[in-house]
Amino acid sequence: MVEAMSIPVTKTGKSKLDKVDFNHLGFGKYFSDHMLEADYVDGKWTNVNIRPYEALGFLPALSVLHYSQTIFEGQKAHKDEQGNIHIFRPHENWKRMNRSAERLAMPQIPEEIFIDGMKQLIELDKDFIPSGYDESLYIRPFLFATEETLGVKESSSYKFLIITGPAGSYFSAPARIYVEEKYTRAAPGGTGFAKTGGNYAASLLSSAEAKKQGYDQVLWMDALEHKYVQEVGAMNIMFIIGDTVVTPDLTDGTILSGITRLSLLERFRDQGFKVEERKVSIDELMDAYKAGALKEVFGCGTAATISHVKELKYKDFVMEFDVDSMTISAEMKKYLLDYKENKHGDPYGWLEKV
Ligand code: PMP
Repeated sequence: MVEAMSIPVTKTGKSKLDKVDFNHLGFGKYFSDHMLEADYVDGKWTNVNIRPYEALGFLPALSVLHYSQTIFEGQKAHKDEQGNIHIFRPHENWKRMNRSAERLAMPQIPEEIFIDGMKQLIELDKDFIPSGYDESLYIRPFLFATEETLGVKESSSYKFLIITGPAGSYFSAPARIYVEEKYTRAAPGGTGFAKTGGNYAASLLSSAEAKKQGYDQVLWMDALEHKYVQEVGAMNIMFIIGDTVVTPDLTDGTILSGITRLSLLERFRDQGFKVEERKVSIDELMDAYKAGALKEVFGCGTAATISHVKELKYKDFVMEFDVDSMTISAEMKKYLLDYKENKHGDPYGWLEKV
């Protein structure tokens, strides 16, 4: 086992900090100077170290390139007004990564590597963390199969990396969505609940077709009956119907358990809202819309926190929403954004100081 804060570091000789345009950060464009690396070989974690972010050498038979045995996480750290750095709920990402690892027949990642390694890496590259409102350091832990083989089997070796990079404030314009009827994302028994590359690869054609038709995203439906909604693009979906917050439940393993979703549900319950995690059919949504009871529709995830839906189309039926009247979710979005910047004093214990 690696002891906390004892990971050896090789520092870069040439920082890229001066190349970062902090006025136009965007997302996924800039990477911090260092990365954390660990290898899993012969049933053991080894070679845990922090070193410059740079190209990796690999051979063409690297098994992840062929059979996609790979998983990842996406999370953020923020600087508060005093300059302290907090990661939002990193233990939830760690647990989710290990659930993904189990599903993909990959090894569990020890807390000392995932959490302590992440903190040490962020401390080292803390100058890359922007300090504007809703700006963050995006953190990308990932694990992939490294055996040199074309055999279809779980790999005997893996590489775990954490890379980070500054990310700008994410403005998400109200979205136009349609219910996806041609493609499906996940079926019971499949990998829907796991954060694995294949789920995203399989969604790209659907997104591209939606964009061609002038839509921003699709609402995924269950693969068996095409009746129940699952997720919107790469976000969880929530509805306010009457005075109740409703969101699809996670029991059949087709939906990713979002940490934004988890946090919102906790806060909604704490605020006295009625919250229901259950199957939500498209018929129920259309009926609620016709009755004027479907008040707010929004996606939630780490990138945008909350992203409002202004149009939802199913076959020929178009539901249009006045996003300005979605005040409950707008307030919730502000609460969560402020929370991440430590403006609420961390009443739920969601922040971990670096
Ligand atoms: N669903 C999918 C498919 C996602 O990729 C994400 C983003 N990780 C989410 C939901 C939201 O999860 P989180 O709130 O943890 O970002």
